[in-house]
Amino acid sequence: MTKTAAAPSNLGAIDAAHHLHPFSDMKKLNADGTKIINRAEGMHIWDSTGKQYLDAFAGLWCVNVGYGRDSIAEAAYQQMKELPYYNTFFGTTTPPTTLLAQKIASHTGPNLNHVFFCNSGSEASDTWFRMARVYWKALGHETKTMVIARKNAYHGSTVAGASLGGMTWMHEQGNLPIPGIVHIGQPHWYVEGGDLSPAEFGLKVARELEDKILELGEENVAAFVAEPIQGAGGVIVPPDTYWPEIVRITKKYNILLVADEVICGFGRLGTWFGHQHYGFEPDLAPIAKGLSSGYLPIGGVLVSERVARVMIEELGDFYHGYTYSGHPVAAAAALENIRIIEDEKLVERVRDDIGPYFTEAWRSLADHDLVGEAVNVGLMGAVQIAADKSTRRRFAKPDEVGTLVRNQCVNNGVILRATGDRMLASPPLIISRSEVDQTVETLRKGLDWLKDNHKE
Ligand SMILES: *Cc1c(COP(=O)(O)O)cnc(C)c1O
Repeated sequence: MTKTAAAPSNLGAIDAAHHLHPFSDMKKLNADGTKIINRAEGMHIWDSTGKQYLDAFAGLWCVNVGYGRDSIAEAAYQQMKELPYYNTFFGTTTPPTTLLAQKIASHTGPNLNHVFFCNSGSEASDTWFRMARVYWKALGHETKTMVIARKNAYHGSTVAGASLGGMTWMHEQGNLPIPGIVHIGQPHWYVEGGDLSPAEFGLKVARELEDKILELGEENVAAFVAEPIQGAGGVIVPPDTYWPEIVRITKKYNILLVADEVICGFGRLGTWFGHQHYGFEPDLAPIAKGLSSGYLPIGGVLVSERVARVMIEELGDFYHGYTYSGHPVAAAAALENIRIIEDEKLVERVRDDIGPYFTEAWRSLADHDLVGEAVNVGLMGAVQIAADKSTRRRFAKPDEVGTLVRNQCVNNGVILRATGDRMLASPPLIISRSEVDQTVETLRKGLDWLKDNHKE
């Protein structure tokens, strides 16, 4: 195979001149300069100055098997030579696409046995959103169209994805949400729980779903969507009372339950999918990220027997799809990625070995003066920064303290992410014990720095 061409030395200037970045203040970015990442291996990435970082965020929650997997590159290369592209629209399929659907279904419950492919989590949001509505329409329930989602959720950046998401600052850009989507509260006990216990608060916010269904009328509600654990919103681990109550309500009122598995899927919580950790089965479940560990873009929607039956038997054509739905090269990469997860028993590793080790190390941060809570499930964790942990009082400028600690960690060679005043970790599932220690020690050092250097 030929090597990629060396990057020119003025790449930063070229980037400023021509490249608009997602989720970025471009004026600030162009002034600060972009960091150029040009190499990765295993748990590590390197920038153009040669500095090495431990990537405790798996790229953007996605590089579950770690970097530098030759066998994924090889699978994609072979597929590209054999059949670089064909579509799945007109009565055709390609071998890796079909085999990937089967492979995914082998890791879900028996009821969640079909897959609709797309290229990203956002497209998966748009896909299930339409699917939920056509499902009810095909059954003769023309008015069942409303979708209930949650505040501070993240479901992508397309118009439907950003509307389903509950980030108000995203809604302000582009006149969102679109009609037919409403939001209820999130199970974020630390910030919103007040005097309630976590268990009481979990029930209270779950029952907002029941109140909303009653307000809108069951006959008008198609679905409820939530991430098993909110990711971009700040790794918000719901109280144990939350999911059972949500499941009870969606069953009682006959609405579809949609679990956004884009982050939680493919082993992160020590189960193949997040809903398995919480012991329920959704009707629809968008997937992406860990499906290919980010090696190539691919996403999909897991479709339950209940919905698939109606789509197959009643609907006729579903006028929806993407030129690259089930792209054979991306599917071949995803198949090899899942083979690695299976053969290296990475899900079991998260459940029984590195997950419990991470839990103990990560939660040890709770003894820090500035840590209000340190929570995780498997390899998905958050540390809540607090100005006064005895009263759960936060710093006046949450974004500022989070960014300061994040920058300390990155300067000290560990990539973590900050959402407001929560520090987030989501490392590749191959992280070693010493790399867990390095992550936790670096975060502790960053928190110490904040304590010594930041005055409110
Ligand atoms: C990242 C993410 C998405 C969007 O996926 P993209 O591939 O970025 O479009 C949707 N839902 C959740 C929970 C995510 O974390």
